[in-house]
Amino acid sequence: MAEALDAADQLAGIRAWFVLDETVYLDGNSLGALPMTVPGRIEDVIRRQWGALRVGSWAEEGWWTAPERIGDRIAPLVQAASGQVVVGDSTSVNLFKSMVAAARMAAADGDGRREILVDGTMFPSDRYIAASAARMTGCTIRPVEPVRIPAAVSDRTAAVLMNHVDYRTGRLQDLPFLTACVHEAGAYAVWDLCHSAGVLPVGLDEHGVDIAVGCTYKYLNGGPGSPAFLYVRRDLQDRFDSPLPGWNSHAEPFRMKAEYEPATGVSRGRVGTPDILSMLALEAALEVWDHLSIDAVRTKSLALTDFFLECVAAYVSPGIVEPLTPAVHAERGSQVALRCPDAAEVMTRLIEAGVVGDVRPPDVLRFGFAPLYVGFGDVERAARVLARTLSEVAVPSGS
Ligand SMILES: *Cc1c(COP(=O)(O)O)cnc(C)c1O
Repeated sequence: MAEALDAADQLAGIRAWFVLDETVYLDGNSLGALPMTVPGRIEDVIRRQWGALRVGSWAEEGWWTAPERIGDRIAPLVQAASGQVVVGDSTSVNLFKSMVAAARMAAADGDGRREILVDGTMFPSDRYIAASAARMTGCTIRPVEPVRIPAAVSDRTAAVLMNHVDYRTGRLQDLPFLTACVHEAGAYAVWDLCHSAGVLPVGLDEHGVDIAVGCTYKYLNGGPGSPAFLYVRRDLQDRFDSPLPGWNSHAEPFRMKAEYEPATGVSRGRVGTPDILSMLALEAALEVWDHLSIDAVRTKSLALTDFFLECVAAYVSPGIVEPLTPAVHAERGSQVALRCPDAAEVMTRLIEAGVVGDVRPPDVLRFGFAPLYVGFGDVERAARVLARTLSEVAVPSGS
């Protein structure tokens, strides 16, 4: 079965772009594997550009314009036209810029909107930062379950921050519908795409998303700590009032003026000197996308997660693990989360046996399926090793 699926897999050849070994690597939703294009590029950036050209590289090697250039490389992956994505800083920092800017836009709209809604199940950093942004802008923050967002948005809502895919369960939220609900209430929709960018179509322009952020070290394989991206819809860019107006976002950065005057366009999402080594590693990592369509990636992603769920159902004794990931395709990201007793111990043993996933407390095993380099044979092997490990470790609760 796995062999036939691998033989029919149109993306199977893409695996050769990555540095991999015998391990079944199902943690690409935490840190994507190393693309072959990266080491040579980094060697060149360090030895020739930094080592020989030194400061001249800012202009000659395009270091200065890298945040916008690489943003335009990411834009089609999230279905955005060019000039709306800028790369730099971490996801957390971009969330901070986004939430303060959204609250400031709502305040400038002048209709007394003083509440920020957040998806109550989202990643902790998002929540902490939204709370701080709310305090700084005189707003209150209210966490709500994603299903309750349509009922919770009102004429008091300034902005809503949502995670496109739940990092724990792998549930995919209905971005078009929720964005429309937020807009109907007159508020701004901010989306965190950390677990969707590079693995499924997002449709930022089509669905009229206001602001979005995403990480590049997960499914975009940019490397540990690679910079995040920030999307600001074109017609909102001249209203994007960043709480971190560094000199890189100035209209004339090299005139060193005392007064701040924001740049036009998405460059006003920049702050200070970008992390060039990580940024150019990311640029090299993105080369693989010249050979890929996001729709083909999504199709394979769903086939991989379907197959894993089938194999788990077939090999694991009933009642030990419970899938938290929705069975419905429209509600599934690219990971499978299994609730499991002794999850931490089970994952330690899985890793020892060459199957790498991770755990989220208290009891969730997470397996991420990066369609660029995970095959169906990997999936079957992971399910077999999981079944064997569970038969050794986990006993159904109550016994
Ligand atoms: C991975 C992830 C982050 C990480 O933020 P950093 O600033 O890169 O540490 C934030 N939010 C979500 C939803 C994530 O999945």
